[in-house]
This record gives sequence, structure tokens and C-alpha cells, in this order.
Amino acid sequence: MSRPIKNTNKSNFTNTYKNIKSVAGLIPIVLRMALSKKNFNQIVSFVEKLKNDNLLSKQINFALGPLYIPYLNSSLDYSILNDIFDSREYSRVYFNIYEELLDKNIIKFTPYPGLYSECGAYKNNVFSIDAKGDIFKCFENVFDTSESIGNVSNKSISLNYKHTKWIKKDFDFEKLECYHCKLLPVCKGGCNMVRRFKEESNIGNFLDLGCNEWKYEHEKGLKLYYKSLKKNEKN
Ligand code: SF4
Repeated sequence: MSRPIKNTNKSNFTNTYKNIKSVAGLIPIVLRMALSKKNFNQIVSFVEKLKNDNLLSKQINFALGPLYIPYLNSSLDYSILNDIFDSREYSRVYFNIYEELLDKNIIKFTPYPGLYSECGAYKNNVFSIDAKGDIFKCFENVFDTSESIGNVSNKSISLNYKHTKWIKKDFDFEKLECYHCKLLPVCKGGCNMVRRFKEESNIGNFLDLGCNEWKYEHEKGLKLYYKSLKKNEKN
């Protein structure tokens, strides 16, 4: 929601929020909020707004994720690299936001580290389609036509490497850090797109692995989960 309108610096927030309100209750929507150093302290008030506008009870939900790939309007914007949290910082911010939401009685804390459930982009029948009908595997690519694997008007999808790179499930277990990590069954080595981005953009070690938020703050997460259950019992 905070990404600017393509080829402009204008915010699309008001328009998107209005559209969400108009379909609330008709279709389930998950708002994926990409946390960065610029927006993380606005998340609690935004979720509070969702609640006050009665949207959380109308099949509108939200999910927190890190800002991974520094794209802005179709091109890489290296200045955004400075806004990206590393995995350790992201874990701390993620659980702090949930703690504040729980303490303010805005939501219960429900996330729990389950066994890895496959990212949609790895599935054969999951695609992202942009406003021009261009088809992609990962939603991170929808603005980058070089990543397109077809267009709905052609009624065909190319089985090129941009497509097979996803469906062959190219997990990177060779990384020693993942091999020895207790969270491997939960995270399976992190996001494939982040790995690709790091390999192809040559930005070296600027971003770390894109580890699961439970890796560094699992103790805090479990305490929060327990606190939420207890709070729920009382109500
Ligand atoms: S949490 Fe990090 S180190 Fe552990 S499996 Fe995931 S990406 Fe690898």
C-alpha cells in the first residue's frame, strides 16, 4: 500500500484503502505489510485504524513481512537498501509490533512457527498477474516485464528458466548456516527471490540470509504466544 503509483512519487494509500473498504466482507483480503526502517513505527496505528473501521471483522487481515527487494517503480533504487532491516533487526521489530498490538487489545498473537508451508510461487498453479495481463511467478516481480513468463491475452505461458527456476524448487541447502540451523524445517532456507536478488544484483553481503523471524527472537515469540493464550482464557 505504501508503494508509489508507477512512474510517480504519489502515494496510492488513500485510493487502495477506499477500494479495500468497498470490498470488505465480500472477499477475504490479506494486507501484506513490508516493514522497513521508514514505516515500522506506523504499523500499530494502521492496524488500529483497520480495527476502528471495523475491517478486521470483515475478512480483512494483515501479515507482516520484511521489505526485501529495493525496487521502486520498476528499477532498483539503491538508496532503499538503507531502509531494509537485517534479519536480526527485523525479528525484534516484528515481535515488538505484535506485543504492542496485543497489549493494546487490538489483536491476539496468533503466529506460531509451523512446519514449512510452501511459498505460493513454487506451486505449479500459482501466478501473479499485473494490470496489463503480464504473468509472473513471484509477486515481487510484477513490475519487471523482463521476468514475465507470458500474458493472459496470448493464452500461453513459457516454460523458460524464469518459470522453471521456481517450480523445480531450488532450495539452497548448501549454505552451511541453514544446514546447521534448527529452524530449517520451518523456513527451508528462506525466500528464493531474496537469494536470486542477492546473486544477480551483486550487492554482496549487504542483506543477510533473509532468516525467519523466529530465528533470533524465538524466546520472545513463545512468551508472547503464551501471554496471548492466557489473556484469551480470561476473556
Ligand atoms: S532461519 Fe536463516 S539460517 Fe535458518 S534455515 Fe532459515 S534462512 Fe537458513
